[in-house]
Amino acid sequence: MSAPLLQARGIRTGYGRLPVVFDIDLEVHEGEIVALLGANGAGKTTTLRALSGMLPLLAGDIELDGKSLKGRPPEKITHAGIVHVPQGRGIFPNLRVEETLRLAAALSGTKRPDTAVDAMYGVFPRLHERRTQLAGTLSGGEQQMLAIARGLIMQPRVLLIDEMSQGLAPAIVDGLFELVRSLPEQGVSVLIVEQFVTHALDVASRAYVLEKGEVAYAGSAAELSSDEEFVRGSYLGDTTAEPDDLADLQDEETGDELLRAIEERAAAEGRDATEVVMGLLREALTANGKGGTS
Ligand code: ATP
Repeated sequence: MSAPLLQARGIRTGYGRLPVVFDIDLEVHEGEIVALLGANGAGKTTTLRALSGMLPLLAGDIELDGKSLKGRPPEKITHAGIVHVPQGRGIFPNLRVEETLRLAAALSGTKRPDTAVDAMYGVFPRLHERRTQLAGTLSGGEQQMLAIARGLIMQPRVLLIDEMSQGLAPAIVDGLFELVRSLPEQGVSVLIVEQFVTHALDVASRAYVLEKGEVAYAGSAAELSSDEEFVRGSYLGDTTAEPDDLADLQDEETGDELLRAIEERAAAEGRDATEVVMGLLREALTANGKGGTS
């Protein structure tokens, strides 16, 4: 195999002086999609933050194309080609879609910001339809598209994507994964942290599993997906959860539309709207393993 595009060697990082990930070795090769999996709190987000320079290294080194990025500030790392699409999307709610993309284009230093923004509208026609809308008023799926478009406009060599499916409806999640699958053809390699293990292993060629801040598995994604115990989630807790009804409502509808959808469901089931909301919340909490048994 060729030399890795992105290589982390023995990285240790955390918050303050307290390390939460230890001696992580991780590689992403040109044209690869790699999944980074693990239970809640295993250190996946922390690892991505170290790779994008948001957290300093306590030990180890990170190289892009054989060049050390150690000690470089996040904006230099972004310019070098490692771009982070954070968990929770990191969208500015009061910026319009077009303003968000133009700002990213300006930060990328491109000489042709219009072309860059138009290229993103080509990938995400929905964002073009919504270009004058405030980002905070978009549906969850649209916000995720905006977060990915903002990342892609920076012309990454490696895109780090953290939990892009969180709170989204199944159809939207499928669409986003198809987009991720197409990124290597566009010259973008991917490291993806994802709670929907089966989706992630389906698009990835290799996977890492973190356990308590250390690499517990590094190898083929296909091999990992044939491990039934792993995929069923008994190892990872809730990580194989599927997008649920609540996510459906959250994503497809916003504001008034969400209320209307809940009221319609309440009418159809002959229940009070509050009961429907409480039921959905209870289901969501139970699905996440956080609900009580009583
Ligand atoms: P999740 O799926 O829950 O996000 P994760 O694998 O991404 O899990 P991290 O978010 O990286 O895990 O968290 C790893 C550890 O670091 C956890 O013990 C967590 O409590 C801790 N941690 C995360 N963020 C911070 C922070 N900002 N300050 C201090 N500790 C943190």
